[in-house]
Amino acid sequence: MQYINIANEGVKSLSPYQAGKPIEELERELGITNIIKLASNENPFGFPESAKQAIINQLNDLTRYPDANGFELKAAVSKKFGVAPNQVTLGNGSNDLLELFAHTFAGEKDEIIYSQYAFIVYPLVTKAINAVAREIPAKNWGHDLEGFLAAINEKTKLIFIANPNNPTGNFLTEAEVDRFLAEVPENVIVVLDEAYTEFTAEHERLNSFGLLQKYPNLIISRSLSKAYGLAGLRIGYAVSNPEIADLLNRVRQPFNCNSLALASAVAVMNDDEFVKKVAENNRLEMARYEAFCQAQGLEYIPSKGNFITIDFKQPAAPIYEALLREGVIVRPIAGYGMPNHLRISIGLPEENDRFFKALIKVLKN
Ligand SMILES: *Cc1c(COP(=O)(O)O)cnc(C)c1O
Repeated sequence: MQYINIANEGVKSLSPYQAGKPIEELERELGITNIIKLASNENPFGFPESAKQAIINQLNDLTRYPDANGFELKAAVSKKFGVAPNQVTLGNGSNDLLELFAHTFAGEKDEIIYSQYAFIVYPLVTKAINAVAREIPAKNWGHDLEGFLAAINEKTKLIFIANPNNPTGNFLTEAEVDRFLAEVPENVIVVLDEAYTEFTAEHERLNSFGLLQKYPNLIISRSLSKAYGLAGLRIGYAVSNPEIADLLNRVRQPFNCNSLALASAVAVMNDDEFVKKVAENNRLEMARYEAFCQAQGLEYIPSKGNFITIDFKQPAAPIYEALLREGVIVRPIAGYGMPNHLRISIGLPEENDRFFKALIKVLKN
C-alpha cells in the first residue's frame, strides 16, 4: 500500500518545510564549534530578560491548562494598539494563525491568492486544505498588486500579503496597500502578514490598525518570534473586526497557546526598550550589509526586514556549503525558486563581521 495514494489531493503536491539548519546539527556533522546561525530571522539578542522572569513566575502553574481565552495577552495587545480585546485572536506562532485563516474561510476548490516568492507557509496551508493556489508572478521579487486584483474572481476567498515579505524583504507602502484594499470586494478576506513590521522605520511603517477601520475584510497578523525574540515559544496574534475574530475563535484549538508563551508575550509587549534595541541594531547593521554588498559588487534585494537576500548570479548551494564549513549558517532559498540567492539574517555586529569575512574567503576560492 502506497499511503500517498489515499492522502488528500493537495497534500500529495506538498514537500516538507525546510527550516534553517540548527547549530547542534552542524556541530554533529562537522565536529566544529563556535558556529553562528544567521538563517532563521531569529533575534540575535537572545531571549529577553523580561520574558525569563515571566516564565519563572509561571512555572508553578504549569499543571493547569493555559487560559483558553488568553485574557491578559489580549488585554496587552488591546492596550498597546488601541484595539478592542474582542478583535484579537492568538496563535501558536503566527503560522498557526495563517492556517486558521485558511481553515476558517476557504475549502476545497476555493481560491487563495498570494505572490510568487512570498512566505512558503501560504502555499502550504492552501494545498493542505485542497484549495486552489493562485500564485501571482512577482514584480521585482515583490507583490504585483495589480496582478492580484486581476486574479480575483467569484471563487476567491482569501489573499495573503507579507509586508515586509520573507524571503525577499520587499515592502509595500501604506498608500499602495490602501489603494489595493479599496479595489478588493468586501467578501474576500485580505491577510496582511506583518511578522517583520517592528524592523521597518517608524515613519514608513503602515498604520495597519487604521486601515482595519476602513476595511472590515482585513486581518492583520503579527508574530512575537522576530523582534520580540520568542521564536521557541510559538506565539503570535491577529487583529481583525470582532465578527471575524469570533469565527476564527470557533475553529481555533482551545488551548493553542501555552502558558509560558502567553506570560512571556505579555512581558515583552511591555518591554519597549528591548524591541527598540533590537530594531536599532538591525538598522545600523543592515546599512553595513548594504555597504558590504556594494563594496564586493554583490547584488541584493533592498529589505525592510531583519534579513537580506543576496543574488550570487550563480547556483548558491556551493557557497552555502562552503559557509557552513566556516561555521556560518545562512539560508538557501532554492525551495522558493531562488537557487542563486541566499538569505542572511542580520545578526549582532560581531556575527555580521564573521559572515563578511567568511563570505570573502569563500568567494575567493
Ligand atoms: C517568520 C514569519 C512568520 C512568523 O512565524 P511564527 O509562526 O510567528 O514564528 C510569519 N510570516 C512571515 C512572513 C515570516 O517570515
